[in-house]
Amino acid sequence: MPDSPLTEDYHAQTATRRHIPAHITFWDETLRDGEQMPGVHFSSEEKLAIAEKLAAVGVEVINAGIPVVSKDEEAMVSRIAHAGIKANILAAGRTMPGDVDAIIRSGVTHAAIFVAASDVHLRYKLRMSQDEVVKAAVESVKRAHEAGLHVAFVTEDTTRAPMDFVERLYLSVLEAGADRLVVSDTVGVMTPMTFRWFLREFSARVHPKDWSVHCHNDFGMATANTVAAIEEGVNAPHTCVNGLGERAGNTSFEEVVMTLESLYKCRTGIKTEQLYELSTMVEKYSGVPLPPNKALVGYNAFSHEAGIHTHGVLRNSLTYEPLQPELLGRKRRFILGKHTGRAAIQEKLREGGASHSDDQLARLTELVKTTEERRGKDLRNDLLRRYHIEFEQPGLKDAEFWELAHQVGIERGKPA
Ligand code: MN
Repeated sequence: MPDSPLTEDYHAQTATRRHIPAHITFWDETLRDGEQMPGVHFSSEEKLAIAEKLAAVGVEVINAGIPVVSKDEEAMVSRIAHAGIKANILAAGRTMPGDVDAIIRSGVTHAAIFVAASDVHLRYKLRMSQDEVVKAAVESVKRAHEAGLHVAFVTEDTTRAPMDFVERLYLSVLEAGADRLVVSDTVGVMTPMTFRWFLREFSARVHPKDWSVHCHNDFGMATANTVAAIEEGVNAPHTCVNGLGERAGNTSFEEVVMTLESLYKCRTGIKTEQLYELSTMVEKYSGVPLPPNKALVGYNAFSHEAGIHTHGVLRNSLTYEPLQPELLGRKRRFILGKHTGRAAIQEKLREGGASHSDDQLARLTELVKTTEERRGKDLRNDLLRRYHIEFEQPGLKDAEFWELAHQVGIERGKPA
């Protein structure tokens, strides 16, 4: 029997079409984009603990936040920068002198300077011309570079921007001293095939040596797009633990790591056996529950209930598991319920050191199935109801907002 889950390794057939860098630098966005997820806010202690854990797992770059946001945010970034964490601590800012100065003051070694690149952002958000954007970008990158910072230059909405402008902008900041270039699929409109085309075009025009992608999951393709980017030679992908982030979230860290490790046999340097611990830590501090069916770190990712599956896994886990749960620091579970078969009950009895007859086994199997079925869904319905109250509208409820408005003397009038 083969001991690899890839009993026929078709990935080997496409290996020559991949240009995966020998060294992948993971750039974590959990504390920045992850925290921008509606209803999520981390305390200073929680941010520190997450940053320490990320470094322990092997993440090399940690975005600690945007210091110009507030005095508190600047203090928090500074605290992380001076905590002796064994990773490169990064802070972000817009292409404005005040933003860059706040990054410098915070004491980080790495800066990410960002500006939008698409026409829709330039016209409606920035109200700047392309020339003005290039000028502001060059000046800010220079300012950060001259202060001795490692500078990443980021454009928002790169994948909806004119390629000629993208080329001009990135070539200008490279000349101004940018060390790393970040391409963003800010509203998640790429597909793996189109993104590979886009990045090939970008690469042919700009010749990046050190580059990142920042992907969003609006169409559920953030991980696929990020893996496609790595196949095109992108060496410093942005990821968020559990795929947290704005709207539908960012690329999920654990998914990219395990795709590279388990499917492509790349060594990422990430301590994968700590991934589940990291995920549950971020689940706890963010207050965002892991969906049961979340890839790799969801509760059900290594759980089996159906009789046919359980039977197969008990014979050999390769039958219905694409990777060993221990790789992520997890354990396989067999769930007793409506779909349970004899094999699982027999295994349970064996673990419990109980001897039994065939007839007893058959009767017990029937009892287990019906007991779970009859239990009803009261608990689950109650949890769902509470989940909806909390997560359908995170943040302040409407009534709370108008109460606060009332405190400053504003009263509700006719609806707009
Ligand atoms: Mn983002």
